[in-house]
Amino acid sequence: MVIITHHRNKCIGSNYCVELAYDQWRTSKKDGKATLIGATDKKGFHTLKLDNERSDTNVRAADACPVNIIKVKMI
Ligand code: SF4
Repeated sequence: MVIITHHRNKCIGSNYCVELAYDQWRTSKKDGKATLIGATDKKGFHTLKLDNERSDTNVRAADACPVNIIKVKMI
């Protein structure tokens, strides 16, 4: 299982996550920040669980995020 967390309030809209993992991320037309598709919002932390064993595209997105607000945990 993969757990992705996005601290959305701190997103600066650089768009790297959308480019690297388009299956999971989109840019919001409302505020220009990235949105983690299907995530649950809890006090600004958006969390999504995937059944995959790995998620290399999301790991690349986390590595590329300039403000380090994407966490990918594989359990
Ligand atoms: S890479 Fe980070 S700062 Fe850039 S849009 Fe994605 S979450 Fe926001």
